[in-house]
Amino acid sequence: MAPGGMQGAPTHAEGVNVEPSGAGVRRPGEASRSVLDLRGVAGLTEAEAASRLAREGPNELPSRGHRTLFAMTWDVAKEPMFLMLVAAGTLYLVMGEPADAALLLGFVAVVMGITLFQERRTERSLEALRDLSSPRARVLRDGVQRRVAGREVVRGDILVVAEGDRVPADGLLRRGINVSADESLLTGESVPVRKLPSVDATALDAPGGDDHPSLFSGTLVTAGQGIVEVVATGAASRLGAIGRALEELEPEPTPLQQETGRVVRVLAATGLGACAVMVVGYALTRGGSAAAWKEGLLAGIALAMATLPEEFPVVLTVFLALGAWRLSRIQVLTRRVPAVETLGAATVLCVDKTGTLTQNQMSLRTLQAEGHAVDVPSVGSGPLPEEVHALLEYAILASKRDPFDPMERALVTAGDVLLLGRDSEHLHPAWSLAREYPLVPGLLAVSQAWHTGDGGETVVACKGAPEAVVDLCHLPAPERERLLTEAGVLAAQGLRVLAVARGVAPGTGLPPEHHDLDFTFVGLLGFEDPLRPTVPAAVAECRAAGVRVVMITGDAPATASAIASGAGLASPGRVLTGPELDALDDAALALRVHEVNVFARVVPEQKLRLVNALKARGEVVAMTGDGVNDAPALKAAHIGVAMGGRGTDVAREAASLVLLQDDFSSIVEAVRLGRRIYDNLRKSFSFIVAVHVPIAGLSLVPVFFPDWPLLLLPAHVVFLELVIDPSCTLVFEADPADADVMRRPPRGLAARVFDAGPVLRAGVQGATVLVACLAVYLLGRGGRTAEAVRALTFTTLVVSFLVTLLASRARGVGLGRALLSPNAAFRGVAAGTVALLAAVLGVPLLQRLFHVAPVEPRALLLAVGAGLACLPVPWLVDRALPGRTA
Ligand code: ADP
Ligand code: MG
Repeated sequence: MAPGGMQGAPTHAEGVNVEPSGAGVRRPGEASRSVLDLRGVAGLTEAEAASRLAREGPNELPSRGHRTLFAMTWDVAKEPMFLMLVAAGTLYLVMGEPADAALLLGFVAVVMGITLFQERRTERSLEALRDLSSPRARVLRDGVQRRVAGREVVRGDILVVAEGDRVPADGLLRRGINVSADESLLTGESVPVRKLPSVDATALDAPGGDDHPSLFSGTLVTAGQGIVEVVATGAASRLGAIGRALEELEPEPTPLQQETGRVVRVLAATGLGACAVMVVGYALTRGGSAAAWKEGLLAGIALAMATLPEEFPVVLTVFLALGAWRLSRIQVLTRRVPAVETLGAATVLCVDKTGTLTQNQMSLRTLQAEGHAVDVPSVGSGPLPEEVHALLEYAILASKRDPFDPMERALVTAGDVLLLGRDSEHLHPAWSLAREYPLVPGLLAVSQAWHTGDGGETVVACKGAPEAVVDLCHLPAPERERLLTEAGVLAAQGLRVLAVARGVAPGTGLPPEHHDLDFTFVGLLGFEDPLRPTVPAAVAECRAAGVRVVMITGDAPATASAIASGAGLASPGRVLTGPELDALDDAALALRVHEVNVFARVVPEQKLRLVNALKARGEVVAMTGDGVNDAPALKAAHIGVAMGGRGTDVAREAASLVLLQDDFSSIVEAVRLGRRIYDNLRKSFSFIVAVHVPIAGLSLVPVFFPDWPLLLLPAHVVFLELVIDPSCTLVFEADPADADVMRRPPRGLAARVFDAGPVLRAGVQGATVLVACLAVYLLGRGGRTAEAVRALTFTTLVVSFLVTLLASRARGVGLGRALLSPNAAFRGVAAGTVALLAAVLGVPLLQRLFHVAPVEPRALLLAVGAGLACLPVPWLVDRALPGRTA
């Protein structure tokens, strides 16, 4: 927008330039900025801004920075798994087995490497999100308004700020209309502070005082709009001085993480208890010699490593972080990580009609005046009938000259096409704006008064909701009924209907009250705002998935109903209006929200009541919004969704998700992704439970039979952990969604990952593997050394792992898809495991380190076969445990 394109002179009465449209009063943002007078202000040049950025550094607070490699390593070193490995290694050293010790300590390095890699990856995806969701600023450079990242703002920049913005740097208000700011971040005082522009102030005042020109980084513009000259950025700002960072994207503990934490603590305590019993039991059953104690200790450490449930929290962190990253690839930014897990449970999506379900691209379709109805598509051929000229003329006079509002743009475009050239006298470029009567929640109409220049006459043009305009015109009842019926007919076609009126100013000048003007009705206009093409399919997907879609709009009930029907919402004919909603008490509202999907003539303040009513009914609510007044509802919803394209900073900060593309289908895709992430998480958890049963069993069982050798040594457990770790994170995380993921009802917030059903199933699956391994041991031990029979059992165990991995992934999608779906991580893990197993069995050095001996191929085949035989177990278990799906 060029500064020259502003209308109106700055010398007019204050308030003249305040944007009055829906976008101004209740939905501030882009629109408000276009009306502030920017003439004569060019800002820095891009070149100067770039050189200052290079010289003075970016506008950001010194952050805590990356965790150093040392800090990360130290964190890993404190992990119990790591300590176990070191303990086992030391024990081997004491026992005079340096090779075994070296092997375990080598594993320490590998485990540490994997962990660090995973942490880096997790942190990096969170960091990328942090950058994306960091504040944006609107600056004037080379005379042109641009949106830049907050960190690129430099000293001397001219900022354009408006209600709902976070101030990106310290500065002085040079021009402004009714600006006030919430400086509680700096002062702790949440009452907004009034700001007065000053052209020649040079220094900042202290925060907190009224009527200063100073605006401070990190504070919130609560009202008005203005331009600000930046005087301090980054660490030099007041915020930088107190070194307090704004709310950041922090991985806060999610409900799932809390549940997991509880389970992990119980498992860890049980595991450690079992280990103690086992060490003592082993040593005593074998005569209590020093060697028996040492062996017992080793077996105990192996068991402890086998039962340590350290995978669960790791898996969760990785899934949530990578989930946020996956969401960002469909243009959805995660501001609060728990949203990733709540998304899949959503039962109601409350969405704005205009811009989310529709394209927010209005075009004029119908003009009705003096008994004439003209459809615009048919107009191109002939001239516009004289009867509707005044209608279009006054509608344009009631609009901005350089409008942002899509409806007003449609009018101006229609004026250019239909009036200009033929009747240019209808556009009055020479008239100047005298006063404006903005939209207020109680009266959905806008008027503009114009100085015509000749003879000092003032012309007033008004447009707005039909019922509001009819009211302003003081029409007799029958006339009023007839017009509203006509408007209803247009609205029923899904058109947004505006009524237009002309007024005259009384001799005494322009009254302050809108209602004190006298209006004559001119006619009706119908605008089309088409549905987004993806919406009907997305709505149908939601319905199949048991997710209700609720439409919220400030538009008329009939229009809302028609659009709802086009979008495919359930019972589109049942509409509740804002005034009706106000008349209901909370209990009555809770009953109504259950059956109504269309809410019309609603103001943002009422969204909060809607959210609460839905929550009271046990729904899991997602709510969209973009304005300052939407923020409470966004915060209250389980999943607040801000519209990144047109939303304010306040809405973004209150939301858990930010849509970079304001499109309903993105929300549905996010829900689908949320369900997939949750499904995969469950599968991964089941896998972890299943594989630990045989490991624990094989470590424990030999203890009770004094003539059995130890089947699993610490080295084997570490080998298995090396397979399990990447499997349960990377493999499961990468799996695509089940085919029926959007054809089943939401899981509900009460669902638990550690439900009895899945845990039992996983337990049975693991027990089967244990039985297979023990069978192989018992069948194979005749005439074989401990090393040879260990090779057989270990082979069965490793093969059955891959089988369990495959079976867990196949749940819900079938074996074929689990095998064939492109999952590079699975192929990598499978190939790596087979290669490692072959190496352990075949390479002499590794044979010695893993205490195994070569066996003849026939026996080996038998061992592999026993592992593969575990494949159908999950299906058998499903037969035996009907009715519970994982
Ligand atoms: P939505 O929820 O569809 O975005 P809005 O809250 O923007 O609806 O608008 C609600 C109603 O206010 C519109 O149906 C219209 O009657 C009136 N309105 C909105 N913008 C304007 C405007 N610029 N001029 C006149 N009337 C307007
Ligand atoms: Mg609107």
